[in-house]
Amino acid sequence: MQQDTTHVDTPQSDMASEAYLAQLKATFEQLPNDIPLYLFAAKGHEDVFTQANRQVIRAFRQLSGKINLREYDLDHELAKKWNVTSSPTLLIAPERFSIRWLGAPMGEEARTLLETLILVGLGKSNLSEQSLNVIKKIDSPRNIKVFVSPTCPYCPQEAVNAVKAAVEMPELISLEIIDIQCEPELANQYAAQSVPQAFANDVLIGQGAQPEEVFILSLNKLEPQTIFIPDSDAELVETDLLIIGGGPAGLTAGIYAVRSGLRTAVVEREALGGQVATTPVVENYPGFTSVGGKTLVDVMVSHALQYVQIFQGEAVMELHAAKPITVMTNRRKFLTKSVLLATGATHRHLNVPGESRLAGRGVSYCSTCDGPLFKGKKVVMVGGGNSAVTEALHLFHMGVDVTLIHRRDKLRAQDFLAKQLSDNNIAVLWDTEIKEIRGEERVEEILVVNNKTNETSIVETSGVFIAIGYTPAVELAQKLGVEVTPDGYIQHDGKHRTNIPGVYSAGDVEGGFKQIVTASGQGAEAAMTIFEDLINPYWLK
Ligand code: NAP
Repeated sequence: MQQDTTHVDTPQSDMASEAYLAQLKATFEQLPNDIPLYLFAAKGHEDVFTQANRQVIRAFRQLSGKINLREYDLDHELAKKWNVTSSPTLLIAPERFSIRWLGAPMGEEARTLLETLILVGLGKSNLSEQSLNVIKKIDSPRNIKVFVSPTCPYCPQEAVNAVKAAVEMPELISLEIIDIQCEPELANQYAAQSVPQAFANDVLIGQGAQPEEVFILSLNKLEPQTIFIPDSDAELVETDLLIIGGGPAGLTAGIYAVRSGLRTAVVEREALGGQVATTPVVENYPGFTSVGGKTLVDVMVSHALQYVQIFQGEAVMELHAAKPITVMTNRRKFLTKSVLLATGATHRHLNVPGESRLAGRGVSYCSTCDGPLFKGKKVVMVGGGNSAVTEALHLFHMGVDVTLIHRRDKLRAQDFLAKQLSDNNIAVLWDTEIKEIRGEERVEEILVVNNKTNETSIVETSGVFIAIGYTPAVELAQKLGVEVTPDGYIQHDGKHRTNIPGVYSAGDVEGGFKQIVTASGQGAEAAMTIFEDLINPYWLK
């Protein structure tokens, strides 16, 4: 299998490890070009973002002498030369590329900066062959803006797509990566109230993380695309097991399968870890009294990477069950003896007027990603389960004025969480349902009804966070002809075999308890079943 030689995974748990630092230093050592960084900040205005820039860059400078930082005031002539007007702005090798950060590459965005430094040092975009075939059709300027937040695990994927485009075509493509926390006015101007969102020439080209090829196609066409079928000469990968989905079920299955001797790969279209990646805090995974969801994911991913190859940012576009099973992603074609569907679940929608029109404009399904933009503002959180209560608490602790809206008078959430809600005096509207979400450009108010009294009222709010459970992601299963239960989950035989020989399931897509620990357990079980079946195929008996 082909590997991207400059791609460096950055699981936080490994950040401190000597081996990881040595690997990074060696990567930088091989880079042919210097990486000059220019930080511009308003004179006498030492804000947290300027300080954060310095801190992050200082950490990276320890990796290589090729990274140089120069600092200037906003009124310096270089600021005029490069048209810098916001404080702080970080320019990356501005003599060669047009890549700038408005804000600071903090938190998750440190990953984007790391990839950017490597690509700039390399002087090469590392775009896939498929993406290169599309980007070379662009023949007029593109100014890309990607709105991000430091707590958004999806953001680096979209931002790095844009960095690659800017490195590939510096004469035509310029890029601004914009931290919504530092630039709320600009985010407001674009009505970008969720992250990531990508604009090119002021046209929205992507909401959420896109696979690289889909992003490049959207950039070329100047409108959001969803499908990308690679050319017929796309790379072919043969496996015994292809795992679709990089959440706890898929990652655990990958570890077990490779340890059993199966040639295995994982494909994941968005952030690894699935729902856990955006869970503010996890308090019931054995071994961790209390751990950030993203931190737990980083630990799992770095463990899985010891064994299994993970193709992140690849979405399955087509698949056929005839043996060998073929699976086409946006980048390559897999021929595999078996497939494990660990596709998880997607956010359930309220399905009320205004919800889809204002998605990303104040309607959000990810408090971890989008919460920072609502600090000091009024928002509502809809739902009464563990997710809604955990996320309401997270928003509250972030400084957001949050009210929980629940359709009954009793929470479904565990008592432990419900108690924290009342301990913190978080307001709750009981027996209340949202009938409509209103606003021109962005959310302004909601129409609610008390379902006991039938009284309606208007609640002014800047944001509507929705956490009302999940719908199993069974589209791929259905394409393969896999049977689903009346509730819409994948039907399996108790050992994770579906009705299609060679096709298995694990995790939230099967329904059940939907806990991280149960998903991991199901992934392990499925991998062991698959190992036994491939040695002794029941479908040949
Ligand atoms: P959930 O447990 O299914 O709860 C969904 C909530 O949304 C319920 O309170 C439900 O109301 C409400 N709801 C559903 N449809 C609605 C609609 N159309 N309009 C208004 N309200 C609606 O979902 P979840 O909280 O996302 O949790 C999913 C799974 O993950 C669960 O198994 C949960 O235990 C697990 N989880 C665990 C933790 C943890 O252990 N810390 C954290 C997060 C999630 P009703 O109550 O009236 O049905």
